[in-house]
Amino acid sequence: MASATSPPVRVRFCPSPTGNPHVGLVRTALFNWAFARHTGGTMVFRIEDTDAARDSEESYNQLLDSMRWLGLDWDEGPEIGGPHAPYRQSERMDIYADVAKKLQDAGHAYDCYCSTPELDERRTAARAAGRPSGYDGHCRDLTAEQVEAYQAEGRPSIVRFRMPDEPITFTDLVRGELTFTPENVPDFGIVRANGAPLYTLVNPVDDALMEITHVLRGEDLLSSTPRQVALYKALIELGLAKYVPAFGHLPYVMGEGNKKLSKRDPEASLNLYRERGFLPEGLLNYLSLLGWSFSADQDVFTVAQLIEKFDIADVNANPARFDLKKAEAINADHIRMLDVKAFAEACTPWLRAPFANWAPEAFDQAAWEAIAPHAQTRLQVLSDITANVDFLFLDEPVHDEASWAKAMKGEPAALLTTARAKLEAADWSSAEALKEAVLAAGEEHGLKLGKAQAPVRVAVTGRTVGLPLFESLEILGKDKALTRIDAALAKLAA
Ligand code: GLU
Ligand code: ZN
Repeated sequence: MASATSPPVRVRFCPSPTGNPHVGLVRTALFNWAFARHTGGTMVFRIEDTDAARDSEESYNQLLDSMRWLGLDWDEGPEIGGPHAPYRQSERMDIYADVAKKLQDAGHAYDCYCSTPELDERRTAARAAGRPSGYDGHCRDLTAEQVEAYQAEGRPSIVRFRMPDEPITFTDLVRGELTFTPENVPDFGIVRANGAPLYTLVNPVDDALMEITHVLRGEDLLSSTPRQVALYKALIELGLAKYVPAFGHLPYVMGEGNKKLSKRDPEASLNLYRERGFLPEGLLNYLSLLGWSFSADQDVFTVAQLIEKFDIADVNANPARFDLKKAEAINADHIRMLDVKAFAEACTPWLRAPFANWAPEAFDQAAWEAIAPHAQTRLQVLSDITANVDFLFLDEPVHDEASWAKAMKGEPAALLTTARAKLEAADWSSAEALKEAVLAAGEEHGLKLGKAQAPVRVAVTGRTVGLPLFESLEILGKDKALTRIDAALAKLAA
């Protein structure tokens, strides 16, 4: 569609609100959005909520909330409207009924009276005879008498689309030219017996009416594309569509054990990433690499760089592998890229009331500002902040038996007693001086710094791992730190 006369790019993201958003869905939204922003086109957000049994208002709200959190804004869609409103399919039922009627009047669709047992029986027979097992066209050309007889029987009927008898070919933006032969794409239902329109109808009808130029979606939908191309051609004939859009099918995302990542896999849930404290830009950076690459030697980039570089023509057809470790490492890089104020701000959800005994007045803003730069260079996900700084705000460090057991080996009381004395005499305005104190204490007991600082760390923070110890001590302050070492000595003596 890249000729001089091509219409401006219009892409759509059209999820069904049937559960929590998952990373596959977000990747689809992202690629559409990045392509729209790269080309200066329009991002249409449409909600495919015609399946009343599965769709929920809660999922709808979650979708909007997720898109906003990710910063994937839309130019037309829910809440903001647009020239093709409404953008919720549940509010467009009259349109679908009207189009179905027009298709039927023009002979592109027909009533099919076959019952499910009849269809099953014929399918089984066709399979046994080695013939294609899709719908066999039984009701394609019923006579008026046959129709009357079926109606007299009170048989329900669905509406079926009449596929052309020639192959369907299109050029997939990711996969190149694809051809589907008629025996592999039988006539398909577009309206249920109860009058409810199906995805097979509503999705391409809306794409046509909303003048979508590029359909970018997951590979799982590839098999519906030849039907949609045929339906489009019928709509063009009826004056309801202007052109067949270009299609690009995004590669599968493989999870653990090289199996397709499923909506039900816990690591597929977008909420997991939000709760763990991924930055939206870190997550978008990672998800953009599922089927695309920025350059051979750079995989960390900003959203602005992504927009500048993203082209659907560069998407790879091979399955992409989801790698949580890599996602975290990329997120960590984005955490480092923030300015320290923005970092401190982004941490707020994990600094507020994570503990019942963390009183709001115990939150020491100055201590937080002092420790934040040390945390910023070390976290992978923001939720890790809680365990790294809680020692500053809790009355007592957390009680973690495993850490205690690990650090308090050998002669911890003797070491702690010496370290306490040296720390008491040290200059608390210098982390370096505190380090010298603990180093000297260790030397007296034949311990290297690493071994000597472990009991001090656990006495003061409750944990064996954390931010640089001596900066932590300095920020906590002499009185609190020494009190905690005393408490640890009392515990060791008990
Ligand atoms: N509502 C469909 C889905 O959620 C959209 C499919 C498409 O992009 O055409 O799978
Ligand atoms: Zn039939």
